[in-house]
Amino acid sequence: MTRFIGTRALFIPGPTNVPDAVRRAIDLPQQDMRAPDFASFTLPIFENLKKVFRTETGTPVVFPSSGTGLWEAALTNCLSPGDRVLVARFGQFSHLWVDMAERLGFEVECIDVEWGRGIPIEQIEEALSQDRGHAIKAVLATQNETATGVASDIGELRAAMDRAAHPALLMVDGVSAVGSLEHRFDDWRIDVTVSGSQKGFMLPAGLGIGCFSEKALTAAESAWSRRCYFDVRDMVAINQTGYFPYTPPTNLLAGLKVATDMLLDEGLDAVTARHHRLAGAVRAAVAGWGLQLCAQEARWHSDTVSAVMLPEGTDGGAFIRHAYFEYGISYGAGLSKVAGKLFRIGHLGDLNETMVLQILGATELVMRDMGMAFETGSGVAAAIEHLSRPVGGGLKVAAE
Ligand code: PLP
Repeated sequence: MTRFIGTRALFIPGPTNVPDAVRRAIDLPQQDMRAPDFASFTLPIFENLKKVFRTETGTPVVFPSSGTGLWEAALTNCLSPGDRVLVARFGQFSHLWVDMAERLGFEVECIDVEWGRGIPIEQIEEALSQDRGHAIKAVLATQNETATGVASDIGELRAAMDRAAHPALLMVDGVSAVGSLEHRFDDWRIDVTVSGSQKGFMLPAGLGIGCFSEKALTAAESAWSRRCYFDVRDMVAINQTGYFPYTPPTNLLAGLKVATDMLLDEGLDAVTARHHRLAGAVRAAVAGWGLQLCAQEARWHSDTVSAVMLPEGTDGGAFIRHAYFEYGISYGAGLSKVAGKLFRIGHLGDLNETMVLQILGATELVMRDMGMAFETGSGVAAAIEHLSRPVGGGLKVAAE
């Protein structure tokens, strides 16, 4: 096979592109993780994370793992075997969290929802209202279902839990949301947020980044699920001194400091507005091509990933392979139920307008090669039109 010429383009919904400043920050000689001044390196990272989670009272944690490890940390720290959890399943990642909860021995009350729809808030409220004995100990919510490009409103979910006056813990999978979409730990009274380093945090994979509320940490005192490596009590106790219970991945932590500085310097509102604006360009292109998103309604459109349905007869696997080998473009594939039926464009992290136009132009090439019917340039033109619209307040990244 001939050498691929030029730069490959990564448009999967994570890992995302790592900014040069973060890459440079990671390129460090190894540090002494028991050095007397190590805390001066770690404590500011936790301060930054509090700001990114928008919390005053929550406790951020960083485990050497991926997001999956934090799913496990959330469940095993706050729940005991046999505890009931309420969860909606509407894509591959919410499915995997359900699967994990079952395998860990929890009783899972699962509301199955058609893929392409979001968290069924009314049904959750109904189930909680019916649960007068408060057998349900936690509600698990995937804020952004990466498999289908569906984002749900966690503030609305919290309001529904309040209406049901139910004390269940609220655990939110923010893996493809935190650092890109609005995520308000305190305002939404989230108990555990689960996230990872390789998406909105713009880092390589390797850090499970989460946040625990006071209520969740109190639950962790009496919950008796077996855990050791992911025991949040050990982690939080020693983190307070700036150290870790085991060898921390110092290079990734150095990157995390720079990446969170970047998010905070840009401003979290500006970050979410940028994602909204760029996602709008992708959605305009999809409409221009005459294609549909997997997300069935605009209220569920994700600003971090668009799952684009392919017309009957176009093989998603072949589409993605062609893009990869011919043009060096990586899309996210359709997973599980939607395998072969769609391709996903990740539009999160260190991303700007011209990068979005690159993927949209490349997608038109791939669509032509695949013999799909569309007007050449229609998607790119719609995206340019979207990006050229004057934005509010004279600010380039102001919310639309
Ligand atoms: N949850 C969501 C919404 C995800 O998108 C992913 C991964 O893409 C995960 C959980 C699992 O995270 P990880 O692959 O970092 O273990």
